[in-house]
Amino acid sequence: AIEIQADYVNQGEAAVEAVRHALSQGQPYAVLFLDMRMPPGMDGFETARQVRALDPEINIVVVTGYSDHSPLQVAKVAGPQDKLYYLAKPFEIDEIRTLAASLSSKWSMEAELKATQTALESTIIELRASEARCRHQSLHDHLTRLPNRHAFQERLSEAVSDKRSDVAVLFVDLDRFKLVNDTLGHGAGDELVCRIGERMARQLPEGAFVARLGGDEFGVILAGDSAATAAETGANLVRLCSENFDLFGTTVQVSASVGYSVRGNAQVDGADLLRRADLALYAAKQEGRSCCRAFLPAMDESSRKRAEIDLRLRMALERDQLALAYQPIIDPFDGSPIGYEALLRWDDADHGLISPSIFVPIAEETGLIVPLGEWVIRRALRDCAGWPTGIVSINLSTRQFQAQTLVEFVVAEAASAGVPHDRIQLEITETALFDDAKLASEILVELRNLGIRIALDDFGTGYSSLVNLKDFEIDCIKIDQSFVASLGTDRQTSAIVNSVTSLARALGLSVVAEGVESEMQVQALRMVGCDLMQGYYYSAPMQDCDLPYLTVEQSNPIRSDTDHDRAAA
Ligand code: C2E
Ligand code: CA
Ligand code: CA
Repeated sequence: AIEIQADYVNQGEAAVEAVRHALSQGQPYAVLFLDMRMPPGMDGFETARQVRALDPEINIVVVTGYSDHSPLQVAKVAGPQDKLYYLAKPFEIDEIRTLAASLSSKWSMEAELKATQTALESTIIELRASEARCRHQSLHDHLTRLPNRHAFQERLSEAVSDKRSDVAVLFVDLDRFKLVNDTLGHGAGDELVCRIGERMARQLPEGAFVARLGGDEFGVILAGDSAATAAETGANLVRLCSENFDLFGTTVQVSASVGYSVRGNAQVDGADLLRRADLALYAAKQEGRSCCRAFLPAMDESSRKRAEIDLRLRMALERDQLALAYQPIIDPFDGSPIGYEALLRWDDADHGLISPSIFVPIAEETGLIVPLGEWVIRRALRDCAGWPTGIVSINLSTRQFQAQTLVEFVVAEAASAGVPHDRIQLEITETALFDDAKLASEILVELRNLGIRIALDDFGTGYSSLVNLKDFEIDCIKIDQSFVASLGTDRQTSAIVNSVTSLARALGLSVVAEGVESEMQVQALRMVGCDLMQGYYYSAPMQDCDLPYLTVEQSNPIRSDTDHDRAAA
């Protein structure tokens, strides 16, 4: 038997008040037995109306057959029908009990059902919201809040699936973004990326889809008629990136390169468009940056050639078909070599000799440069071990220089070949220094502490001034051959070489002039105080076995300043 708890009041107002109170306590009634005949005051009809208005769930049992109001009228104000019951007098007490018990259990079942339903509904709403949030997050870049690479790809496949309208893809890449990060910090770098993203979103024509593809790289999709404006949009992108930015109180100017491809009549899919825009971007970077280039079919051709060179070079390395040539580095005072620069030689069976200035940059890009460079280091150190004296100067590409294994590798190979560290010189370029200045200076300190010499190759072709170099542990700079070539013809060149040489000497660095081809150049270089020379005038690169060795008596250590004065005299 269900235990029923009942409250009794004898007037309508009191009943309405009891219902109100129960609701406010969070313990509403399941059933109201309402005797339509009650003492004067509010009548049964009005009581039923007010109770229903307060509590939509309560079951109302109208007790008595007699009423001034028809059941229809009662139902109108106290319905719905399934919550409205009639009990005619006279009745048995058990009838009341049974009705109370069954209506109570119906009421609590309904309440439970309702609660479950509400919970379910709110779970569904929450689920939908979090799904939407997830989707938003998975399609947006957290830093700039622009669409991300994933969204870019989705949007592109949508755009290319519409065969009736045109599509263009533009890639934007900031030039030397690393420099901003290195000099102003990552916070400033992030801020810059955000600002550029904002500018793009604001200034690009309506309908242009802008995404951040990662790092300092953005992508733009133009669909339909706007694809025809790709060139103009590209030029705009270059311009808007090069306008000044105010980053935490510092005015910063950067530049960007843009490459783009338009579908037009070509039978290409989204992946092709991306690849083509990427090739165009590469071309823009090659052509001096801060410009916009369209994809040209010839670019595809050159990328195929590069892939072929990479493959053949891999095989040549595996089959030990590479060789080193050595070019003497000469002391012009007596014409004796102080050492030899190792230069990679690749004689391909089909293509003949391929210049390292062609295949080294490709190997650098594909990563092959690391094993290739290790081969060079190992071979050069073994060859050097066979020379009575003199240093071996080994070229390092940027990627190789930054590889974590470099120092360890050089030390291990030097030990295994039996070459002392002071006979080893590594040639690096300005790019290797400034690409990641902090890393570079750490590596240089490590090498310097080991007693390994560092030469800065192709000096003058990069963007560093000698003043920037004083923070790096460098022993020697090699003046690029383009300066030497224009020595006699361009008066400004002599002035540059002159000041570079004196500055270098003030910093305690030795200076090698590269590409020396004539007696006249030798004279001019000696006049400005250049220590050492390298070039066809003295010797072309040659095989190890043909090298003119120093005799032990002739052996001349790296020039010091007093040596130089003697040479200049
Ligand atoms: P580089 O380091 O500036 O090497 C000097 C280049 O000038 C060599 O070209 C050399 O043969 C050439 N050369 C020497 N004397 C003269 C001259 O009097 N006149 C002219 N016009 N040229 C002269 P090469 O051997 O073709 O090497 C080209 C570039 O390839 C090198 O420039 C260097 O950057 C890179 N390279 C060569 N071997 C290696 C290597 O083992 N590793 C790496 N990472 N790069 C290498
Ligand atoms: Ca070199
Ligand atoms: Ca050089």
